Amino acid sequence: MEKGPGLEIIDVHCHCFAGVAQAEQIVSGFVSLRQAGVRQLAVMGLANSRLPRNDIIRLVPEGFENRGDPLFYEVDTLLQFAAVSDGLLFPLIDTRCLAGEVADQLTEYVARGFRGIKGLYLADEHNDLHIASVPEVFGISLKQYQQREWEIFAFAEAHSLPVVYHMDARQYGDVMSAILEDFPRLRINFPHFGIGRKAFGKILERHPNAFTDIAYMHPHIQQNPASYRDFIAHYSDRVCFGSDALLYQPEIVLEYSALVKGLHLSARIESKVFSENPRKFLGLGC
Ligand SMILES: [Zn+2]
Repeated sequence: MEKGPGLEIIDVHCHCFAGVAQAEQIVSGFVSLRQAGVRQLAVMGLANSRLPRNDIIRLVPEGFENRGDPLFYEVDTLLQFAAVSDGLLFPLIDTRCLAGEVADQLTEYVARGFRGIKGLYLADEHNDLHIASVPEVFGISLKQYQQREWEIFAFAEAHSLPVVYHMDARQYGDVMSAILEDFPRLRINFPHFGIGRKAFGKILERHPNAFTDIAYMHPHIQQNPASYRDFIAHYSDRVCFGSDALLYQPEIVLEYSALVKGLHLSARIESKVFSENPRKFLGLGC
């Protein structure tokens, strides 16, 4: 049936939000995901080590139930889950709380087992997630914030680490283009079709190192499958499979996989979305 020997699914966009209390459930989820052909899950973990609860929750969107550390320090838990996942998990370090020496800290995260970076462009209150801005929460200037983000991109490019970067092309298209121009070798995924397909399409045209994913787009795709099928077919080398699932929600990964299959893309394009593009983005080789 659908589960041919060649079918491989790689999810480039999951979140941790889990703790050791969910360990049993999560490990049994790994089994069902493998059975469904899932070979890698890129999972992002936050690393809040300094903001009090009242501040950190201003930097996290609502609607995701965090069952892990209430202060969002997920580094150790995520690495522990990765260690028992038999290679399934591909951990990404979330940089929204990063302060101080960027390169030193990222070097340490990589040494501990992180293989990629997650970021969000939270320059001001106009972000699409309706959460606080990093400059406001940390009391830094926009310039200092952008400098931090640029240091993160420079590190990622120099060390060939993939970056999942939540950013709205409609609002910040110029900054997005500047990132891609300054870091032409960086592999960067602006998820959720860059939030606005029209604005983001222009950027995809110009920058071959930009990827995107379908995470969180389930209701939109379901409402308008033909339009999304066309977009995916047009940018078939850039769109990656992603689900926005939390680590204790393997069923969401499977729902997204059914969503993609239900689009009836050509077998060639389906394999690009599920496997080839995620491999290129994550740097897994083919
Ligand atoms: Zn997400």
